[in-house]
Amino acid sequence: MKHLLLKFTFVLSLLFSSTAMSADFPTKEPMGGQPFGHSVKKVSDGLYVFRWWVYRNIFMVTDEGVIVTDPLNPKAAKLLRNEIRKITDKPVKYVVYSHNHHDHISGGNIFKEEGAKFIGHKNILKELGDHPSAVTPLPDITFDSEYTLQLGGRTIELKYFGPNHGESLVVMMLPKEKILFVVDIVTPRRVAFRSMPDFWPDEWIRSLKEIEQLDFDYVISAHGPENQPAIDPAAVVKEQRMYLEDLIAAVKVEWDKGTHSPDKLRKLVKLPKYKHWRSYEQWLPMNVERIWAYLHMGW
Ligand SMILES: [Zn+2]
Repeated sequence: MKHLLLKFTFVLSLLFSSTAMSADFPTKEPMGGQPFGHSVKKVSDGLYVFRWWVYRNIFMVTDEGVIVTDPLNPKAAKLLRNEIRKITDKPVKYVVYSHNHHDHISGGNIFKEEGAKFIGHKNILKELGDHPSAVTPLPDITFDSEYTLQLGGRTIELKYFGPNHGESLVVMMLPKEKILFVVDIVTPRRVAFRSMPDFWPDEWIRSLKEIEQLDFDYVISAHGPENQPAIDPAAVVKEQRMYLEDLIAAVKVEWDKGTHSPDKLRKLVKLPKYKHWRSYEQWLPMNVERIWAYLHMGW
């Protein structure tokens, strides 16, 4: 029996190791207790939010075809393609990348095969050149500060605010609907992601201040489990900035008292105002350590 079990485990591990980097990423257990699963919500005329696990994108259905944003990963992209097919038989004409990170923009081949053009900030070419992926087609169209995408009488404005999370993150504005789609730099009612990988606190805050000046009433953000709203009021951008400012200020208070050990700071710094935000207990100490690095090393 033990022998059989070992054999079974071995076969399983082979299966998982051979598929770990395959087109079906991710194959492992979901993190954070949120089950895998997907859903589609219509939020405006022709505008849909697609959720896969804790990731979201938007897609827009027009008379001349479909605009898709971040395909997420091959598994999610396949599900997304099927969901779009239930709504329209028009082809996907454009895929817009929010930024360079593989967890958001893998899996676009399925849309490439039907002739979609890919759009992203120009810096993404170098970032994806340095970290290529077989399941992430390079953009066909790149731009510097702004790009206006029009299809079937609908408009999406792509806006770049400089480096903040990676060096290619763009936000997507739907001017008629006054909706902003924003990935990773705004996560309503959730503390910052773990140790803030590839986030630069100063530039992040600066970008959010600039984004707050745009003319929008609603925000669709790219992270949140199923029980979180698909669409939020514009105020969540300011709330995100205030969280970061409060986090930096709280770490600095302890720093100025002479506490320079990241381990001590992780234990000492609390932000009770945000206690009800998702992942507060697990990720606040990691957020604190990121700010320690910012104070200690200067970035
Ligand atoms: Zn990211």
